[in-house]
Amino acid sequence: MTEMKTPPEAAGLPNAASFPEQPLRRIAHELSDRGPEQVRHLRSLDEAISQRNWQDFQKALLAYIADESALTPTLAAHLANFVEEVQSAFGDENAGLLADLMAVLRAIPVDREKLQKLLTEGQNKVRAAAGKEREVKLSLLNLLHLIIENISELSLDDHWLKGQLDGLLAVITPPLNLRHLGEMEQRLRDVMARQGEAKGQAVKAQQEMRRMLEAFIEQLARMNASSASFQGKIEQSAREITAVTRAEDLAPLLADLAQTARAMAEETASSRQQLQSLQERVQASEAELVQLHLELDNASALARHDPLTDALNRKGLDEALAREIADMRRKNTPLSVCLLDIDNFKKLNDRLGHDVGDVALVHFARVIRDNLRPSDALARYGGEEFVILMPDTDLEGGIKTIARLQRALTKAIFLSGKEKILITFSAGVAQLKADESGAEAIRRADRAMYLAKRGGKNCVMGS
Ligand code: GH3
Ligand code: MG
Ligand code: MG
Repeated sequence: MTEMKTPPEAAGLPNAASFPEQPLRRIAHELSDRGPEQVRHLRSLDEAISQRNWQDFQKALLAYIADESALTPTLAAHLANFVEEVQSAFGDENAGLLADLMAVLRAIPVDREKLQKLLTEGQNKVRAAAGKEREVKLSLLNLLHLIIENISELSLDDHWLKGQLDGLLAVITPPLNLRHLGEMEQRLRDVMARQGEAKGQAVKAQQEMRRMLEAFIEQLARMNASSASFQGKIEQSAREITAVTRAEDLAPLLADLAQTARAMAEETASSRQQLQSLQERVQASEAELVQLHLELDNASALARHDPLTDALNRKGLDEALAREIADMRRKNTPLSVCLLDIDNFKKLNDRLGHDVGDVALVHFARVIRDNLRPSDALARYGGEEFVILMPDTDLEGGIKTIARLQRALTKAIFLSGKEKILITFSAGVAQLKADESGAEAIRRADRAMYLAKRGGKNCVMGS
Protein backbone atom coordinates (compact mmCIF):
# COMPACT_ATOMS: atom_id res chain seq x y z
CA MET A 1 0.00 0.00 0.00
CA THR A 2 1.24 3.42 -0.79
CA GLU A 3 0.81 6.25 1.63
CA MET A 4 -1.55 9.09 0.55
CA LYS A 5 0.24 12.45 0.44
CA THR A 6 -1.68 15.50 1.67
CA PRO A 7 -1.61 18.22 -1.08
CA PRO A 8 0.25 21.33 0.07
CA GLU A 9 -2.78 23.63 -0.58
CA ALA A 10 -4.83 21.65 1.85
CA ALA A 11 -2.21 22.30 4.47
CA GLY A 12 -2.48 26.06 3.77
CA LEU A 13 0.94 26.18 2.15
CA PRO A 14 1.69 27.73 -1.21
CA ASN A 15 2.12 25.05 -3.86
CA ALA A 16 5.61 26.06 -4.77
CA ALA A 17 6.10 23.26 -7.26
CA SER A 18 3.01 23.89 -9.42
CA PHE A 19 3.04 27.71 -9.44
CA PRO A 20 4.03 28.82 -12.99
CA GLU A 21 5.73 31.99 -11.88
CA GLN A 22 7.49 32.86 -15.13
CA PRO A 23 4.54 32.55 -17.55
CA LEU A 24 2.27 34.38 -15.12
CA ARG A 25 4.73 37.24 -14.76
CA ARG A 26 4.97 37.51 -18.53
CA ILE A 27 1.19 37.73 -18.77
CA ALA A 28 1.06 40.29 -15.97
CA HIS A 29 3.56 42.46 -17.86
CA GLU A 30 1.40 42.35 -20.93
CA LEU A 31 -1.50 43.92 -18.99
CA SER A 32 -1.71 47.68 -19.52
CA ASP A 33 -2.45 50.11 -16.74
CA ARG A 34 -5.06 52.77 -17.18
CA GLY A 35 -5.08 54.97 -14.20
CA PRO A 36 -3.89 54.66 -10.63
CA GLU A 37 -6.51 52.06 -9.65
CA GLN A 38 -5.21 49.59 -12.19
CA VAL A 39 -1.59 50.40 -11.31
CA ARG A 40 -2.47 49.38 -7.77
CA HIS A 41 -4.13 46.13 -8.91
CA LEU A 42 -1.12 45.27 -11.11
CA ARG A 43 1.21 45.84 -8.21
CA SER A 44 -0.86 43.42 -6.06
CA LEU A 45 -0.75 40.97 -8.93
CA ASP A 46 3.07 41.18 -9.05
CA GLU A 47 3.25 40.69 -5.37
CA ALA A 48 0.95 37.66 -5.45
CA ILE A 49 3.15 36.14 -8.17
CA SER A 50 6.28 36.79 -6.15
CA GLN A 51 4.61 35.19 -3.13
CA ARG A 52 3.38 32.37 -5.39
CA ASN A 53 -0.02 32.89 -3.79
CA TRP A 54 -2.92 31.69 -5.97
CA GLN A 55 -5.54 33.27 -3.73
CA ASP A 56 -4.02 36.76 -3.80
CA PHE A 57 -3.29 36.31 -7.49
CA GLN A 58 -6.95 35.56 -8.20
CA LYS A 59 -8.12 38.51 -6.09
CA ALA A 60 -5.79 41.00 -7.79
CA LEU A 61 -6.66 39.74 -11.25
CA LEU A 62 -10.42 39.98 -10.64
CA ALA A 63 -10.03 43.49 -9.25
CA TYR A 64 -8.01 44.44 -12.33
CA ILE A 65 -10.65 43.02 -14.71
CA ALA A 66 -13.50 44.76 -12.87
CA ASP A 67 -11.66 48.07 -13.22
CA GLU A 68 -10.88 47.45 -16.88
CA SER A 69 -14.59 47.73 -17.79
CA ALA A 70 -15.26 50.72 -15.55
CA LEU A 71 -15.02 54.44 -15.95
CA THR A 72 -11.53 55.49 -17.02
CA PRO A 73 -10.18 58.84 -15.77
CA THR A 74 -10.26 60.27 -19.33
CA LEU A 75 -13.88 59.27 -19.81
CA ALA A 76 -14.75 60.66 -16.38
CA ALA A 77 -13.04 63.96 -17.28
CA HIS A 78 -15.01 64.12 -20.54
CA LEU A 79 -18.23 63.50 -18.66
CA ALA A 80 -17.36 66.22 -16.14
CA ASN A 81 -16.79 68.68 -19.01
CA PHE A 82 -20.08 67.66 -20.57
CA VAL A 83 -21.95 68.24 -17.31
CA GLU A 84 -20.34 71.67 -17.06
CA GLU A 85 -21.42 72.53 -20.62
CA VAL A 86 -25.05 71.58 -20.09
CA GLN A 87 -25.27 73.15 -16.63
CA SER A 88 -26.97 76.30 -17.87
CA ALA A 89 -29.74 74.27 -19.52
CA PHE A 90 -30.79 72.78 -16.18
CA GLY A 91 -31.50 76.00 -14.33
CA ASP A 92 -30.38 77.12 -10.88
CA GLU A 93 -32.42 74.69 -8.86
CA ASN A 94 -30.20 71.77 -9.93
CA ALA A 95 -26.88 73.63 -9.60
CA GLY A 96 -25.97 71.80 -6.37
CA LEU A 97 -26.53 68.37 -7.85
CA LEU A 98 -24.51 69.19 -10.96
CA ALA A 99 -21.64 70.61 -8.92
CA ASP A 100 -21.56 67.39 -6.85
CA LEU A 101 -21.61 65.35 -10.04
CA MET A 102 -18.66 67.26 -11.49
CA ALA A 103 -16.72 66.94 -8.25
CA VAL A 104 -17.22 63.16 -8.21
CA LEU A 105 -16.22 62.84 -11.87
CA ARG A 106 -13.08 64.91 -11.36
CA ALA A 107 -11.90 63.11 -8.23
CA ILE A 108 -9.50 60.20 -8.91
CA PRO A 109 -10.39 57.45 -8.40
CA VAL A 110 -14.05 58.01 -9.20
CA ASP A 111 -16.33 56.99 -6.36
CA ARG A 112 -18.65 54.78 -8.35
CA GLU A 113 -21.27 54.31 -5.70
CA LYS A 114 -21.63 58.03 -5.17
CA LEU A 115 -21.69 58.61 -8.92
CA GLN A 116 -24.45 56.05 -9.33
CA LYS A 117 -26.50 57.75 -6.60
CA LEU A 118 -26.09 61.21 -8.12
CA LEU A 119 -26.97 59.95 -11.60
CA THR A 120 -30.17 58.32 -10.33
CA GLU A 121 -31.10 61.52 -8.52
CA GLY A 122 -30.40 63.56 -11.68
CA GLN A 123 -32.45 61.21 -13.82
CA ASN A 124 -35.47 61.58 -11.52
CA LYS A 125 -35.16 65.35 -11.55
CA VAL A 126 -34.95 65.51 -15.35
CA ARG A 127 -37.98 63.24 -15.64
CA ALA A 128 -39.97 65.42 -13.23
CA ALA A 129 -38.92 68.58 -15.08
CA ALA A 130 -40.00 67.15 -18.44
CA GLY A 131 -43.40 66.28 -16.98
CA LYS A 132 -43.76 69.76 -15.56
CA GLU A 133 -42.87 71.32 -18.92
CA ARG A 134 -45.50 69.21 -20.66
CA GLU A 135 -48.08 70.37 -18.14
CA VAL A 136 -47.11 74.00 -18.59
CA LYS A 137 -47.45 73.65 -22.37
CA LEU A 138 -50.89 72.08 -22.05
CA SER A 139 -52.16 74.74 -19.70
CA LEU A 140 -50.81 77.47 -22.00
CA LEU A 141 -52.77 75.90 -24.82
CA ASN A 142 -55.91 75.81 -22.69
CA LEU A 143 -55.41 79.43 -21.81
CA LEU A 144 -55.07 80.33 -25.47
CA HIS A 145 -58.30 78.45 -26.17
CA LEU A 146 -60.11 80.43 -23.50
CA ILE A 147 -58.82 83.75 -24.77
CA ILE A 148 -59.81 83.00 -28.34
CA GLU A 149 -63.26 81.74 -27.35
CA ASN A 150 -63.68 84.92 -25.39
CA ILE A 151 -62.69 87.14 -28.31
CA SER A 152 -64.99 85.20 -30.57
CA GLU A 153 -67.94 85.76 -28.21
CA LEU A 154 -67.22 89.46 -28.20
CA SER A 155 -67.26 89.67 -31.96
CA LEU A 156 -70.18 87.42 -32.85
CA ASP A 157 -71.63 90.05 -35.14
CA ASP A 158 -68.70 89.90 -37.50
CA HIS A 159 -68.97 86.89 -39.73
CA TRP A 160 -65.41 87.11 -41.00
CA LEU A 161 -63.88 87.40 -37.54
CA LYS A 162 -65.92 84.46 -36.31
CA GLY A 163 -64.68 82.34 -39.18
CA GLN A 164 -61.07 83.29 -38.52
CA LEU A 165 -61.38 82.52 -34.83
CA ASP A 166 -63.01 79.14 -35.43
CA GLY A 167 -60.12 78.38 -37.77
CA LEU A 168 -57.70 79.39 -35.04
CA LEU A 169 -59.34 77.12 -32.48
CA ALA A 170 -59.00 74.27 -34.93
CA VAL A 171 -55.29 74.99 -35.34
CA ILE A 172 -54.54 75.00 -31.60
CA THR A 173 -54.60 71.30 -30.98
CA PRO A 174 -51.59 69.35 -29.87
CA PRO A 175 -49.17 68.30 -31.17
CA LEU A 176 -48.05 71.77 -32.10
CA ASN A 177 -45.32 72.33 -34.62
CA LEU A 178 -43.47 75.46 -35.68
CA ARG A 179 -45.41 75.77 -38.92
CA HIS A 180 -48.69 75.68 -36.96
CA LEU A 181 -47.47 78.31 -34.58
CA GLY A 182 -46.37 80.54 -37.47
CA GLU A 183 -49.78 80.27 -39.10
CA MET A 184 -51.48 80.94 -35.78
CA GLU A 185 -49.45 84.05 -35.20
CA GLN A 186 -50.28 85.35 -38.67
CA ARG A 187 -53.99 84.74 -38.14
CA LEU A 188 -54.05 86.33 -34.71
CA ARG A 189 -52.38 89.41 -36.17
CA ASP A 190 -55.05 89.61 -38.88
CA VAL A 191 -57.83 89.17 -36.35
CA MET A 192 -56.38 91.75 -33.99
CA ALA A 193 -55.85 94.33 -36.71
CA ARG A 194 -59.34 93.74 -37.98
CA GLN A 195 -60.88 93.90 -34.54
CA GLY A 196 -59.04 97.09 -33.71
CA GLU A 197 -60.34 98.65 -36.89
CA ALA A 198 -63.91 97.43 -36.34
CA LYS A 199 -63.86 98.58 -32.73
CA GLY A 200 -62.64 102.06 -33.63
CA GLN A 201 -65.40 102.41 -36.18
CA ALA A 202 -68.06 101.03 -33.89
CA VAL A 203 -67.04 103.46 -31.15
CA LYS A 204 -67.33 106.36 -33.60
CA ALA A 205 -70.75 105.22 -34.78
CA GLN A 206 -71.89 104.81 -31.19
CA GLN A 207 -70.75 108.33 -30.26
CA GLU A 208 -72.63 109.75 -33.21
CA MET A 209 -75.78 107.84 -32.21
CA ARG A 210 -75.46 109.09 -28.66
CA ARG A 211 -75.15 112.69 -29.83
CA MET A 212 -78.30 112.31 -31.90
CA LEU A 213 -80.20 110.67 -29.08
CA GLU A 214 -79.28 113.58 -26.81
CA ALA A 215 -80.52 116.03 -29.44
CA PHE A 216 -83.80 114.09 -29.67
CA ILE A 217 -84.38 114.19 -25.94
CA GLU A 218 -83.52 117.86 -25.78
CA GLN A 219 -85.97 118.57 -28.58
CA LEU A 220 -88.71 116.54 -26.94
CA ALA A 221 -88.14 118.30 -23.65
CA ARG A 222 -88.29 121.65 -25.38
CA MET A 223 -91.54 120.67 -27.11
CA ASN A 224 -92.99 119.49 -23.86
CA ALA A 225 -91.98 122.67 -22.06
CA SER A 226 -93.35 124.96 -24.75
CA SER A 227 -96.60 123.03 -25.12
CA ALA A 228 -97.00 123.17 -21.32
CA SER A 229 -96.52 126.92 -21.43
CA PHE A 230 -98.96 127.23 -24.36
CA GLN A 231 -101.42 125.09 -22.46
CA GLY A 232 -101.06 127.43 -19.49
CA LYS A 233 -101.64 130.42 -21.67
CA ILE A 234 -104.72 128.89 -23.32
CA GLU A 235 -106.20 127.87 -19.97
CA GLN A 236 -105.56 131.39 -18.70
CA SER A 237 -107.24 132.87 -21.80
CA ALA A 238 -110.16 130.45 -21.36
CA ARG A 239 -110.61 131.57 -17.76
CA GLU A 240 -110.40 135.23 -18.74
CA ILE A 241 -112.84 134.71 -21.58
CA THR A 242 -115.37 133.10 -19.23
CA ALA A 243 -114.96 135.98 -16.85
CA VAL A 244 -115.56 138.66 -19.54
CA THR A 245 -118.86 140.42 -19.35
CA ARG A 246 -118.39 143.09 -21.97
CA ALA A 247 -117.92 142.35 -25.66
CA GLU A 248 -115.21 144.99 -26.12
CA ASP A 249 -113.07 143.32 -23.44
CA LEU A 250 -113.18 140.13 -25.49
CA ALA A 251 -111.33 141.54 -28.52
CA PRO A 252 -107.86 141.91 -26.89
CA LEU A 253 -108.22 138.50 -25.26
CA LEU A 254 -109.02 136.92 -28.61
CA ALA A 255 -106.08 138.72 -30.16
CA ASP A 256 -103.88 137.31 -27.39
CA LEU A 257 -105.23 133.84 -27.97
CA ALA A 258 -104.65 134.12 -31.72
CA GLN A 259 -101.09 135.22 -31.00
CA THR A 260 -100.58 132.24 -28.71
CA ALA A 261 -102.00 129.86 -31.32
CA ARG A 262 -99.74 131.35 -34.00
CA ALA A 263 -96.71 131.03 -31.80
CA MET A 264 -97.71 127.47 -31.01
CA ALA A 265 -98.07 126.61 -34.69
CA GLU A 266 -94.69 128.18 -35.48
CA GLU A 267 -93.02 126.35 -32.66
CA THR A 268 -94.56 123.05 -33.77
CA ALA A 269 -93.46 123.60 -37.36
CA SER A 270 -89.92 124.37 -36.29
CA SER A 271 -89.90 121.33 -34.01
CA ARG A 272 -91.15 119.16 -36.81
CA GLN A 273 -88.46 120.52 -39.06
CA GLN A 274 -85.79 119.89 -36.49
CA LEU A 275 -87.05 116.37 -35.88
CA GLN A 276 -87.08 115.71 -39.58
CA SER A 277 -83.50 116.87 -39.99
CA LEU A 278 -82.51 114.67 -37.06
CA GLN A 279 -84.24 111.75 -38.69
CA GLU A 280 -82.36 112.41 -41.91
CA ARG A 281 -79.11 112.42 -39.99
CA VAL A 282 -79.99 109.08 -38.37
CA GLN A 283 -80.70 107.61 -41.78
CA ALA A 284 -77.43 108.96 -43.15
CA SER A 285 -75.64 107.48 -40.20
CA GLU A 286 -77.30 104.10 -40.74
CA ALA A 287 -76.24 104.15 -44.39
CA GLU A 288 -72.72 104.94 -43.25
CA LEU A 289 -72.77 101.91 -40.96
CA VAL A 290 -73.92 99.67 -43.80
CA GLN A 291 -71.10 101.07 -45.92
CA LEU A 292 -68.68 100.37 -43.09
CA HIS A 293 -69.77 96.75 -42.98
CA LEU A 294 -69.27 96.46 -46.71
CA GLU A 295 -65.80 97.90 -46.39
CA LEU A 296 -65.00 95.49 -43.60
CA ASP A 297 -66.09 92.61 -45.81
CA ASN A 298 -63.86 93.91 -48.56
CA ALA A 299 -61.05 94.16 -46.09
CA SER A 300 -61.26 90.40 -45.61
CA ALA A 301 -59.87 90.12 -49.14
CA LEU A 302 -56.70 91.63 -47.70
CA ALA A 303 -56.44 88.91 -45.10
CA ARG A 304 -54.92 85.55 -45.85
CA HIS A 305 -57.89 83.25 -45.60
CA ASP A 306 -60.90 82.70 -47.74
CA PRO A 307 -63.95 83.38 -45.54
CA LEU A 308 -66.10 80.64 -47.09
CA THR A 309 -63.78 77.64 -47.00
CA ASP A 310 -61.13 78.92 -44.59
CA ALA A 311 -58.49 77.75 -47.07
CA LEU A 312 -55.67 80.22 -47.76
CA ASN A 313 -56.64 82.90 -50.27
CA ARG A 314 -54.37 84.11 -53.09
CA LYS A 315 -52.40 86.41 -50.82
CA GLY A 316 -52.01 83.61 -48.23
CA LEU A 317 -50.98 81.21 -51.00
CA ASP A 318 -48.33 83.59 -52.35
CA GLU A 319 -46.81 83.94 -48.89
CA ALA A 320 -46.93 80.20 -48.14
CA LEU A 321 -45.42 79.41 -51.54
CA ALA A 322 -42.55 81.85 -51.02
CA ARG A 323 -41.89 80.29 -47.60
CA GLU A 324 -41.94 76.72 -48.91
CA ILE A 325 -39.70 77.56 -51.89
CA ALA A 326 -37.17 79.17 -49.56
CA ASP A 327 -37.32 76.05 -47.34
CA MET A 328 -36.92 73.76 -50.34
CA ARG A 329 -33.77 75.59 -51.45
CA ARG A 330 -32.29 75.84 -47.97
CA LYS A 331 -32.88 72.24 -46.98
CA ASN A 332 -32.56 70.82 -50.46
CA THR A 333 -35.86 68.93 -50.12
CA PRO A 334 -38.49 68.39 -52.84
CA LEU A 335 -41.66 70.50 -53.05
CA SER A 336 -44.72 69.61 -55.12
CA VAL A 337 -47.76 71.70 -56.01
CA CYS A 338 -51.16 70.47 -57.11
CA LEU A 339 -53.82 72.41 -58.96
CA LEU A 340 -57.27 70.87 -58.81
CA ASP A 341 -60.65 71.80 -60.20
CA ILE A 342 -63.95 70.31 -59.03
CA ASP A 343 -65.71 68.34 -61.76
CA ASN A 344 -69.05 69.50 -63.15
CA PHE A 345 -69.57 72.06 -60.42
CA LYS A 346 -71.69 74.26 -62.61
CA LYS A 347 -74.23 71.43 -62.91
CA LEU A 348 -74.34 71.04 -59.12
CA ASN A 349 -75.01 74.77 -58.76
CA ASP A 350 -77.65 74.74 -61.47
CA ARG A 351 -79.47 71.77 -60.01
CA LEU A 352 -79.30 72.52 -56.27
CA GLY A 353 -78.69 76.26 -56.13
CA HIS A 354 -75.69 78.43 -55.39
CA ASP A 355 -76.12 78.18 -51.60
CA VAL A 356 -75.87 74.38 -51.67
CA GLY A 357 -72.87 74.85 -53.98
CA ASP A 358 -71.28 76.97 -51.25
CA VAL A 359 -71.92 74.31 -48.60
CA ALA A 360 -70.44 71.71 -50.97
CA LEU A 361 -67.28 73.83 -51.27
CA VAL A 362 -67.00 74.05 -47.46
CA HIS A 363 -67.46 70.27 -47.19
CA PHE A 364 -64.88 69.69 -49.92
CA ALA A 365 -62.26 71.92 -48.28
CA ARG A 366 -62.81 70.23 -44.91
CA VAL A 367 -62.39 66.71 -46.28
CA ILE A 368 -59.24 67.73 -48.16
CA ARG A 369 -57.71 69.41 -45.13
CA ASP A 370 -58.59 66.48 -42.85
CA ASN A 371 -56.70 64.18 -45.17
CA LEU A 372 -53.58 66.26 -45.67
CA ARG A 373 -50.49 66.31 -43.48
CA PRO A 374 -50.30 69.30 -41.12
CA SER A 375 -47.35 70.62 -43.09
CA ASP A 376 -49.31 70.68 -46.38
CA ALA A 377 -51.32 73.80 -47.26
CA LEU A 378 -54.66 74.19 -49.02
CA ALA A 379 -55.47 77.41 -50.89
CA ARG A 380 -58.54 78.50 -52.81
CA TYR A 381 -57.13 79.56 -56.16
CA GLY A 382 -60.40 80.57 -57.81
CA GLY A 383 -64.12 79.68 -57.62
CA GLU A 384 -63.87 75.87 -57.45
CA GLU A 385 -60.15 75.61 -58.10
CA PHE A 386 -57.72 74.87 -55.30
CA VAL A 387 -53.95 74.65 -54.93
CA ILE A 388 -52.24 72.25 -52.54
CA LEU A 389 -48.63 72.76 -51.43
CA MET A 390 -46.81 69.60 -50.42
CA PRO A 391 -43.39 70.21 -48.86
CA ASP A 392 -40.90 67.31 -48.60
CA THR A 393 -42.81 65.56 -51.40
CA ASP A 394 -41.56 64.56 -54.84
CA LEU A 395 -43.72 64.17 -57.95
CA GLU A 396 -44.51 60.51 -57.31
CA GLY A 397 -45.38 61.16 -53.65
CA GLY A 398 -47.50 64.16 -54.69
CA ILE A 399 -49.51 62.11 -57.19
CA LYS A 400 -50.06 59.39 -54.58
CA THR A 401 -51.25 61.98 -52.04
CA ILE A 402 -53.76 63.47 -54.48
CA ALA A 403 -55.06 60.03 -55.47
CA ARG A 404 -55.54 59.36 -51.75
CA LEU A 405 -57.56 62.59 -51.44
CA GLN A 406 -59.75 61.45 -54.32
CA ARG A 407 -60.47 58.20 -52.52
CA ALA A 408 -61.16 60.04 -49.25
CA LEU A 409 -63.63 62.28 -51.04
CA THR A 410 -65.59 59.33 -52.42
CA LYS A 411 -65.89 58.00 -48.86
CA ALA A 412 -66.89 61.33 -47.27
CA ILE A 413 -70.03 61.71 -49.33
CA PHE A 414 -71.72 65.15 -49.36
CA LEU A 415 -75.35 65.20 -48.17
CA SER A 416 -77.78 67.81 -49.46
CA GLY A 417 -80.92 67.09 -47.48
CA LYS A 418 -81.26 63.36 -48.06
CA GLU A 419 -79.53 63.35 -51.40
CA LYS A 420 -76.03 61.88 -51.52
CA ILE A 421 -73.75 63.82 -53.82
CA LEU A 422 -70.40 62.57 -54.99
CA ILE A 423 -67.92 65.39 -55.45
CA THR A 424 -64.94 64.57 -57.65
CA PHE A 425 -62.08 66.64 -58.98
CA SER A 426 -59.41 66.56 -61.64
CA ALA A 427 -55.88 67.48 -60.72
CA GLY A 428 -52.40 68.14 -62.03
CA VAL A 429 -49.22 67.82 -59.95
CA ALA A 430 -45.83 69.43 -60.59
CA GLN A 431 -42.64 69.12 -58.58
CA LEU A 432 -40.79 72.43 -58.44
CA LYS A 433 -37.61 72.59 -60.48
CA ALA A 434 -34.50 74.02 -58.86
CA ASP A 435 -34.96 77.58 -60.03
CA GLU A 436 -38.55 77.59 -61.12
CA SER A 437 -40.98 80.16 -59.72
CA GLY A 438 -44.11 79.07 -57.87
CA ALA A 439 -46.31 80.60 -60.58
CA GLU A 440 -44.55 78.58 -63.31
CA ALA A 441 -44.96 75.35 -61.37
CA ILE A 442 -48.68 76.10 -60.88
CA ARG A 443 -48.98 76.74 -64.62
CA ARG A 444 -47.45 73.33 -65.31
CA ALA A 445 -49.83 71.73 -62.81
CA ASP A 446 -52.70 73.56 -64.52
CA ARG A 447 -51.75 72.11 -67.91
CA ALA A 448 -51.61 68.60 -66.38
CA MET A 449 -55.02 69.25 -64.78
CA TYR A 450 -56.40 70.17 -68.18
CA LEU A 451 -55.15 66.82 -69.52
CA ALA A 452 -56.84 65.08 -66.57
CA LYS A 453 -60.14 66.80 -67.52
CA ARG A 454 -59.70 65.73 -71.13
CA GLY A 455 -58.88 62.21 -70.01
CA GLY A 456 -62.34 61.84 -68.48
CA LYS A 457 -62.09 63.79 -65.17
CA ASN A 458 -61.81 62.42 -61.59
CA CYS A 459 -58.14 61.61 -62.07
CA VAL A 460 -54.69 63.06 -61.45
CA MET A 461 -51.86 63.68 -63.91
CA GLY A 462 -48.24 64.56 -63.26
CA SER A 463 -46.38 67.24 -65.15
P1 GH3 B 1 -65.47 71.07 -65.23
O1 GH3 B 1 -65.66 69.68 -64.77
O2 GH3 B 1 -65.05 71.16 -66.64
O3 GH3 B 1 -64.57 71.82 -64.34
O4 GH3 B 1 -66.91 71.73 -65.16
P2 GH3 B 1 -67.39 72.86 -64.17
O5 GH3 B 1 -68.84 72.98 -64.29
O6 GH3 B 1 -66.89 72.60 -62.82
O7 GH3 B 1 -66.56 74.08 -64.70
P3 GH3 B 1 -66.81 75.58 -64.89
O8 GH3 B 1 -65.50 76.26 -64.71
O9 GH3 B 1 -67.51 75.81 -66.20
O10 GH3 B 1 -67.77 76.03 -63.74
C1 GH3 B 1 -67.35 76.33 -62.48
C2 GH3 B 1 -68.55 76.75 -61.72
O11 GH3 B 1 -68.24 76.97 -60.36
C3 GH3 B 1 -69.11 78.03 -62.23
C4 GH3 B 1 -69.37 78.87 -61.01
O12 GH3 B 1 -70.67 79.34 -60.94
C5 GH3 B 1 -69.12 77.93 -59.87
N1 GH3 B 1 -68.56 78.62 -58.73
C6 GH3 B 1 -67.40 79.29 -58.68
N2 GH3 B 1 -67.21 79.81 -57.41
C7 GH3 B 1 -68.30 79.45 -56.69
C8 GH3 B 1 -68.72 79.70 -55.34
O13 GH3 B 1 -68.03 80.34 -54.53
N3 GH3 B 1 -69.89 79.14 -54.94
C9 GH3 B 1 -70.65 78.43 -55.78
N4 GH3 B 1 -71.78 77.91 -55.32
N5 GH3 B 1 -70.29 78.20 -57.06
C10 GH3 B 1 -69.15 78.70 -57.52
MG1 MG C 1 -63.14 75.75 -63.02
MG1 MG D 1 -64.81 72.71 -62.51
